[in-house]
Amino acid sequence: FPSGSIALLQRGACNFQLKAENAAAAGASGVIIFNQGDTEDRKDLLNATLGDSYAGGIPVFFATYDVGVGLAQSTETQVRMLADVVRERAQTFNLIAESRHGNANNVVMAGAHLDSVYEGAGINDNASGSAALLELALQLQKVRPKNKLRFAWWGAEESGLVGSTYYVNQLPAEQKSKIKTYLNFDMIASPNFAYFIYDGDGSAFGLQGPPGSAAIEKLFEEYYKLRGLPSEGDEITFRSDYAQFFQDGIAFGGLFTGAEVLKTPEQANLYGGTAGVALDPCYHASCDDLNNIAQRALEINGDAMAFVTSWLSFSTKVVDDQIEAAKAEKSVARSVQSYDITHWGKHWIK
Ligand SMILES: [Zn+2]
Repeated sequence: FPSGSIALLQRGACNFQLKAENAAAAGASGVIIFNQGDTEDRKDLLNATLGDSYAGGIPVFFATYDVGVGLAQSTETQVRMLADVVRERAQTFNLIAESRHGNANNVVMAGAHLDSVYEGAGINDNASGSAALLELALQLQKVRPKNKLRFAWWGAEESGLVGSTYYVNQLPAEQKSKIKTYLNFDMIASPNFAYFIYDGDGSAFGLQGPPGSAAIEKLFEEYYKLRGLPSEGDEITFRSDYAQFFQDGIAFGGLFTGAEVLKTPEQANLYGGTAGVALDPCYHASCDDLNNIAQRALEINGDAMAFVTSWLSFSTKVVDDQIEAAKAEKSVARSVQSYDITHWGKHWIK
C-alpha cells in the first residue's frame, strides 16, 4: 500500500474498526469505506460506528456504493479528506423515579430516552416520549398503585442504547427478576405519524417478544380500538431501549409513530397524512424542533401510555398468565431462541 494515501475499502466481512485499523497499519492517511452493494439495502449511506476502542488514529469516512465504485474505477480523481471530529469519553445519566406505593416484588417499568442526536433538539425524538412520560409520572402521584411503578429517562440512547443497557446489566439478578414488564416510548408524535405498537406477539414480523409481551401489545391494541382508531404492529429491531430488557427475557411493549420510513398509501388511508413522505421527515435532523410534532398523535399516545401503564400498575395478570403458560410449555419441550442483534442501536458495526 502506498504509504500516505487514502485507502478505499468496501463494506463486508470484518467490521469497520478492524478494516480501518488494518489500513492505518499499512500506512494509510485516511479511509473511505463504501457500502457493499450486494443488496438494495446495502447501497446508501449509513450511520456506521468504529466502536469506542478504535485505535487507528486516522479519519474514516463512509460513502455510498455508487461513490465507492466511481472512486475505484477512476484513475484521475484526487481525494482530500477533511475531518472535524470530537472523540472523547463523556458522562451521561439515567434518571430513575419510583412510586412510593406498590408491591416492590412486581415492578412495572416505563422508560423513554432523554437525549437527542447531535444534529438537532430532538423534539419528536425523543422529547415526545420523555415529556409524556414525565406528565404520566406526575399524574400517577395521585393514585396508589398495587404494583411498584418505576420510571426511567435514559441517557445516551443515540450513542448505542448506552443508558438502558448499563442499567439492566448492572442490576443484580434478584432485582432484575422483580421487573415484570418494561414499556418503551421512543417517538410518539411523528408529524406524518402512524400508530405502531411493538409486535410483541410476532404476528406481523415473526419475532416474538419474551413471554408476556403479546399481552402488552394486546392492551395497547385494545386502547386504540376503544378510541375507534387504527393501529399496527411494529417490527422488533432492537433500535431502542427495550433491547437489553428483551435480551434478559423481560416482557416488553411500547409505542412508535415512525421515523425515516416512508408512509405507504395504505397508511395514509388509515391515519391521514401524506403517502410517499417519511413518517418523520426531520428524523435525526436539525429541523426536529418544536414544529416537528403532531399534537394529535401526542395526545392520543399520551393517553395510550396512561391506559396501559395504569392498567398494569393495578394488575399484571394478563402478563403473568402468559409467563406461566410459557413456563409450562418449556418444561415439555426445551427450545433455544437466538436473536439477531447485529443491527442494534442506530449504528452498524459491520
Ligand atoms: Zn429515539
